[in-house]
Amino acid sequence: MYSIIGSGIAGLACSSLLSKQGVQNEVFEKNNKILDQNYGIQLSPNASYVLEKMGLLELLKPKLKVINSIEVCSLQNLKSITTLPIGNFVKYNNLTNYYTTSRNELYELLRRDVENSGTTINYKSEITKIDDNNQKVQLYKKDGKIIEKEKLIIANGNAKKSIYKNIIYKNVTNNFLTLRSNITKQNIPFDIKGDSVMLLLGNHLHIVIYPFFNNELNVVLITDKKYFDNNLELDFGRIGYIDKKIFQLITECNWSSWQLQDRKIKLNLSPNKAIYAIGDAAHSIKPHLAQGSAMALEDAYFLANLITNKNKAKDIHQMLKIREKRVNRVINKSSQNRYFFHAISPISIIRDTILNNIDGASFLNTLKWLYCYKI
Ligand SMILES: Cc1cc2nc3c(=O)[nH]c(=O)nc-3n(C[C@H](O)[C@H](O)[C@H](O)COP(=O)(O)OP(=O)(O)OC[C@H]3O[C@@H](n4cnc5c(N)ncnc54)[C@H](O)[C@@H]3O)c2cc1C
Repeated sequence: MYSIIGSGIAGLACSSLLSKQGVQNEVFEKNNKILDQNYGIQLSPNASYVLEKMGLLELLKPKLKVINSIEVCSLQNLKSITTLPIGNFVKYNNLTNYYTTSRNELYELLRRDVENSGTTINYKSEITKIDDNNQKVQLYKKDGKIIEKEKLIIANGNAKKSIYKNIIYKNVTNNFLTLRSNITKQNIPFDIKGDSVMLLLGNHLHIVIYPFFNNELNVVLITDKKYFDNNLELDFGRIGYIDKKIFQLITECNWSSWQLQDRKIKLNLSPNKAIYAIGDAAHSIKPHLAQGSAMALEDAYFLANLITNKNKAKDIHQMLKIREKRVNRVINKSSQNRYFFHAISPISIIRDTILNNIDGASFLNTLKWLYCYKI
């Protein structure tokens, strides 16, 4: 019996896959079943491929929007810098589509899949500490109970502090903030295509806008914490010139803010114990490549396969180490994007000039290792 901590994308996907292969498992989730605010999520082809392999893509299709292009534009004047023709890239490479969807729809689908397979999700069951000093693993619950388990999958996401001594968080910085809002198409003061992700680059900050649900668009703004005042309001005086329609959009949005944990995670997992970590619990990926949940899905699929193929713990750990190379490449690319997206003048001018002269299709070919990956 496997105990999975966390019913996020990684935990639920792993549970569903294990259950379908007859591997008994249970899930512990600290929160109640209440859904988050309904934000969007981008599912790149490597992520939608996992959902297809899980037999879930067809079920999610009514809630998916196909993305055919990524439009990179300037925050200063809204002009196009370059277009990445992701729809053609997908067709040419015979991939599943690049989609956007609602986070809640994805969670709900995974949740239903887990529950329909007879697996229990224990809500309001926060695990505060994991001990593995004996043969068994002790899970310390917030209500004071201690339960003994044999095998563990840690999928508790981007938690504030580590609950297991062998997962070490090295906090690098906490210096950037994310704002998110949903907005209806009519309330956006400029045109946006119904099948594209718009990436707006400026100095210090970037904004991503995409359709994800009926008439709703998801807007994400990421910038350094220093550009916010004490009330978490953007300090417009400091973020440089932006087009007045962008300014209008920013004031029109109903923002929620997150402080992102910008850290490194060191996994010191014992090679002989069936204790594994997946998703954001195992690696911290900046959101500048929209790959966090893609990696969570890939991790879940990878681990569940190793378990159902009856590999020994030692071999599973070894295979997970090999997978780390891909994840590290994603971490590095996301970090590079962070500097690239948030460059300040004159580097931002050079960035925009380079992008302006780039052929979008050739640029996407440099990301084949990421999007064409079939786990
Ligand atoms: C602004 C923003 C935009 C993003 N956009 C994208 C995108 O477009 N595409 C993409 O691929 N990724 C995106 N991501 C990243 C993505 O959301 C995450 O990487 C992904 O949700 C990670 O999944 P997970 O299952 O590992 O963790 P989570 O989804 O965080 O799930 C962890 C679960 O564990 C539970 N939990 C935590 N601690 C405990 C505990 N002690 N005991 C029990 N339960 C616990 C939590 O309540 C939660 O349900 C974005 C992230 C941000 C911040």
